[in-house]
Amino acid sequence: MNLLSVREARERILSHFQPVTTEALPAVESLNRILAQDATALDDLPPFDNSSMDGFAIRAIDVADAKPASPRTLRVVADIPAGSPPTVSITSGEAARIMTGAPLPQGADAVIPVEDTNFQDRAAGAPPPPEVTIFKNVTQNENIRQRGADIRAGETALQKGRKLKPQDVALLASLGYSTVNVFRKPRVALFSSGDELLDASQPLEPGKIRDSNSHMLAGLIESAGAEVEKLGTAKDTYESVKAALDKTSALKVDLILSSAGVSVGAFDYVKSVIESNGKMDFWRVNMRPGKPLAFGEYNGAPFIGLPGNPVSAFVGFEVFIRAALGRLAGQTERNRLTIRARCEEEINSDGRESYLRANLREESGSLVARLTGHQGSGNILSLAQADALLIIPAGVKCVPAGQEVEAWLL
Ligand code: AMP
Ligand code: MG
Repeated sequence: MNLLSVREARERILSHFQPVTTEALPAVESLNRILAQDATALDDLPPFDNSSMDGFAIRAIDVADAKPASPRTLRVVADIPAGSPPTVSITSGEAARIMTGAPLPQGADAVIPVEDTNFQDRAAGAPPPPEVTIFKNVTQNENIRQRGADIRAGETALQKGRKLKPQDVALLASLGYSTVNVFRKPRVALFSSGDELLDASQPLEPGKIRDSNSHMLAGLIESAGAEVEKLGTAKDTYESVKAALDKTSALKVDLILSSAGVSVGAFDYVKSVIESNGKMDFWRVNMRPGKPLAFGEYNGAPFIGLPGNPVSAFVGFEVFIRAALGRLAGQTERNRLTIRARCEEEINSDGRESYLRANLREESGSLVARLTGHQGSGNILSLAQADALLIIPAGVKCVPAGQEVEAWLL
């Protein structure tokens, strides 16, 4: 087996995945989905010139000389609440009371905030005064939100491949999208394997441990925007592993993911079952934690076998599977955001690309990282305690205290 770099292994995996099909969804239910179309503005936003303040719509020229010592008084000829189009036109010497968000009347070219007038009655339901005295000048267009200032009809508001955030859904709603095309959620079949595994709710028995990986991986899959089909735990027998894998064909999944059972141990049956109905490769990746990563195909669906040790499974997910699910999901590919942190202590590595569990804290404007304890691939406590994975590049055997390394936030 030749040694693959992390990057080569990731690219090989990614080359097997293409975006899933799309579906139309009500735009207001599209949160966290991946947009499968460019969303262009159907209307100008804002759709009409409107006031950004509660105040009086006026002609700026009428109050050009207004000062506290020499105010100007204008006749109030209309009252414009938000939500109804004004029916009047403002001419010289006139004003209209106007609320935030209300359309600007014809003739007006500025809004004077109520605070700069003698009208201070802001109680709900208070009628407008017959006239208003203004103590300040305003420039043309002041306190007016111009039609189309945010975006103009026909411009691209959101691009295909974007994961829709709450504020994106707000934008789609503002623009009048009733439905949008999004990628359907990728579906991932997940199983654990091992005779030692008990359900999380079961009491311990001699020689047994509770299955933690399937719960961790299910959460990670969902956090990557995919759906999980839980296939439970396979025993270390050919039949049991085959039964788990055979369930996947009816489920129409985009990926089959398993943990454990892919080492070269006497009880690791996953390889032979996969090969009975597909094919499988083991890649030796130059990383730590990490074992051979199993990649194959079963009944036409891609299969990835992660190591059994919980931390190895976690890191394997973050390094390989998250990117694969992102591609399946149709998400625009961007390198994962890395931050830089100073190592509090010296870190030694064996020269493989290493992912270490750490806590970060801020110290005089920069981040300092401290390892969370045992870095063995079975130590799930230090993983749970970590808020970052430090990345020690391949070829580096020692990072002296005080040196910066890259890290992923968890
Ligand atoms: P294996 O890859 O089957 O050799 O397993 C490697 C290690 O991971 C062993 O110590 C297993 O007990 C442990 N392990 C395997 N599967 C799980 C799981 N689902 N949850 C927690 N630990 C596991
Ligand atoms: Mg095992």
